[in-house]
Amino acid sequence: MANLLEKYIGGFTAIALTFGSFIACGTQMYKVSVADDFDNQRATAAHPPSADKTSTLYGIHAPHGWQDLPVPFRFSTEMNEGQKIHLMAAMKKWEWAIGRRIFDFTGEHAGTNGDSFQDLYSSLQDDINGYYLDDHWGKTKKSDHVLATTIWNNGVDYSIIKKSDIRFNNEYYLFGDSLELRSTPARVVVDMQSLALHELGHLLGLAHIDESVDSLSIMNPELLIGEGLTTRMLSRGDLERIQMIYGCEGKSCDIEAMIKEQESVDWDKLTLTAKRWMQTPGESPTLELH
Ligand SMILES: [Zn+2]
Repeated sequence: MANLLEKYIGGFTAIALTFGSFIACGTQMYKVSVADDFDNQRATAAHPPSADKTSTLYGIHAPHGWQDLPVPFRFSTEMNEGQKIHLMAAMKKWEWAIGRRIFDFTGEHAGTNGDSFQDLYSSLQDDINGYYLDDHWGKTKKSDHVLATTIWNNGVDYSIIKKSDIRFNNEYYLFGDSLELRSTPARVVVDMQSLALHELGHLLGLAHIDESVDSLSIMNPELLIGEGLTTRMLSRGDLERIQMIYGCEGKSCDIEAMIKEQESVDWDKLTLTAKRWMQTPGESPTLELH
């Protein structure tokens, strides 16, 4: 795995110097590219402003998003409790960003995981919006270093999304809470909540955002991975862009207050709310941050 990572991300290893203490403890840490985690070419062709840094629609591949909210979803059978909780925490964070419900947890996709599908796009052929772990990543035709990939079907045109799946590279990475998990010689820890925030951004209609435009965006095409490393915050730009698609309700319309809240509240409550949600399919506990 070390060779594999060096091959693909050698250019990013310099950042390790900044975190000497982590390295001294033997922790693996890498900043990896997530540029290939969704079909950027297709998104750009469908909606050219999404790649135009001067456009107000920069970074938005589906300007009308999902028409019918909440979006029902199911989990891969083999996904463990921690992975589900942190994925759902990322969902609740995007819901916090617009002030209303986006997702509807309807249970497991029984007997199904990434390996149940013959290739990447065949999981789009059913009606279920699923989150799947893939133990044989080569089948997706994505490089080994790609952490996960979000795929989707549009509605009558590119501006609407009507079905989407996320596939996780379970062959080369270990997904969960990076504050607790330990990497193995074969698989590097990836913080599920951080990665899911990024992938769900794609699922909701967002494209990549260049660091030169918004260096704090969760949609930057790179992510820190490794033990103890998380990127669980949304930038001002992330809030503005998601609200351009879905609007805002209540206190979420006050972006300044939202940024202050994000910096000051105890986000452990997000994980606790996600845990309650996982235990009660069909219901969606309210996130109480205060
Ligand atoms: Zn991405």
